[in-house]
Amino acid sequence: GGSDLECDVLVLGAGPGGYSAAFRAADLGLKTVLIERFATLGGVCLNVGCIPSKALLHVAAVMDEVKHFESLGVSFGAPSVDLAKLKTHKDKVVGKLTQGLAAMARMRKVTVVHGTGEFLDPYHVGVARADGGKQVIKFKNAIIAAGSEAVKLPFLPKDDPRVVTSTGALELRQAPKRMLVIGGGIIGLEMGTVYSSTVGSRLDVVEMLDGLMQGADRDMVKVWQKLNAPRFDNIMLKTKTVGAEATKDGILVKFEGENAPKEPQLYDLVLQAVGRVPNGKRIGADKAGVAVNERGFIPVDIQMRTNVPHIFAIGDIVGQPMLAHKAVHEGHVAAEVASGDTHAAFDARVIPSVAYTDPEVAWVGLTEDDAKARGIKVKKGLFPWTASGRAIANTRDEGFTKLLFDEETGRIVGGAIVGTHAGDMIGEVALAIEMGADAIDIGKTIHPHPTLGESLGMAAEAAEGHCTDLP
Ligand code: FAD
Repeated sequence: GGSDLECDVLVLGAGPGGYSAAFRAADLGLKTVLIERFATLGGVCLNVGCIPSKALLHVAAVMDEVKHFESLGVSFGAPSVDLAKLKTHKDKVVGKLTQGLAAMARMRKVTVVHGTGEFLDPYHVGVARADGGKQVIKFKNAIIAAGSEAVKLPFLPKDDPRVVTSTGALELRQAPKRMLVIGGGIIGLEMGTVYSSTVGSRLDVVEMLDGLMQGADRDMVKVWQKLNAPRFDNIMLKTKTVGAEATKDGILVKFEGENAPKEPQLYDLVLQAVGRVPNGKRIGADKAGVAVNERGFIPVDIQMRTNVPHIFAIGDIVGQPMLAHKAVHEGHVAAEVASGDTHAAFDARVIPSVAYTDPEVAWVGLTEDDAKARGIKVKKGLFPWTASGRAIANTRDEGFTKLLFDEETGRIVGGAIVGTHAGDMIGEVALAIEMGADAIDIGKTIHPHPTLGESLGMAAEAAEGHCTDLP
């Protein structure tokens, strides 16, 4: 049959990458169709990722914060948590944002088609619509933004509500006494924090590598780990899960490796957070001639073009880091290039990473470990928050701010912050790196006092050999 809908740009998937691409394309005057199999827009990030996890982490952080208020002379009653109500709160947060996106799509006259799309050839996508209908859409350009999904370990019980990925964990169906987090990365540690703080779950974490939060410098992780130690019964590094059995008392998990317990361990909830796989193999890419590598990623150039020049790909499906802010910027580039802007390209120097745990751990650009590995000599400016008036006033002075400058050029090449609100501050470091700032630029920039943000100025001053004057 013929196509019943034609467009300049077809966007497949409405996550942060896809909706950003669609909105930018529409703003540039292109007739745009956005296809999404979920009932709402926003993809993983808004529905089952960044936003719901942060809604719960905020509650967790406040609950933890007030725990030590007694020593300040302020006491509250013991908290009681209604998980169903908390879930409703989280769902409302998500709903506000996804409805906002739907309204923005209407305002921009982006046609949204709800259903699962697959390429039929290099100029057509077929959609099995959510309402049962079928539709063929003809496009001049396509932007693939089909994202990723959680890896499921083959040896874990299937269809058991006590074995979940982050999506299941966000449903808050249970208040586990003992919870196992498989994978010591950001997502696992964030979700572990939620359960530990809100319902008091005791945590075990198992990680194959030799440290938690890979990618961050160890000095930062040390600060996090010291404060978070009370949550954990067992942090099993260089260890892996090798089997599990569903019993009526819980999930019985077997371990192997350097820190494996001798006996299998029983858990009420097992969270698998061992990474995400791209959805590249499930969109009929071959029919459009789009190359997909063996892991399911779609290779692209700096203009986000696949091997087929009028088909672009963005976000988690094109590679690491799998982060919403990367997807958004790539989406803008793809839309701009599709609109005929020959100069648009993805040339970000750095992409920040944040663990929204308590304290937060944020880093951008080179870490000290990276610099060492690449043989780049760096000058370090370190500002411990024990010297920050604001951090002390907040009774949260455990953190530090660290900036790294290339010894040869003097320019900033990396930065890292551990402490409350670290994620909100790391953007300034990203800006400094993009602008090619040196320590004097940052140190002479007047930051408001007393803020945690002024620790960035102080760290830059420290790199210049000055000591800090402000308490
Ligand atoms: P996705 O968000 O995965 O969206 C892809 C969309 O395409 C989905 O809606 C999917 O339904 C749709 N789709 C796929 N195939 C088809 C098809 N054939 N037809 C129609 N529709 C299709 N990142 C951050 O930057 N900060 C965070 O704090 C953060 N927290 C996270 C917490 C969790 C628990 C998880 C799981 C992830 C988190 N992430 C975070 C990662 C972030 O969610 C992703 O990087 C981001 O969503 C990727 O965006 P995307 O547009 O590439 O794809």
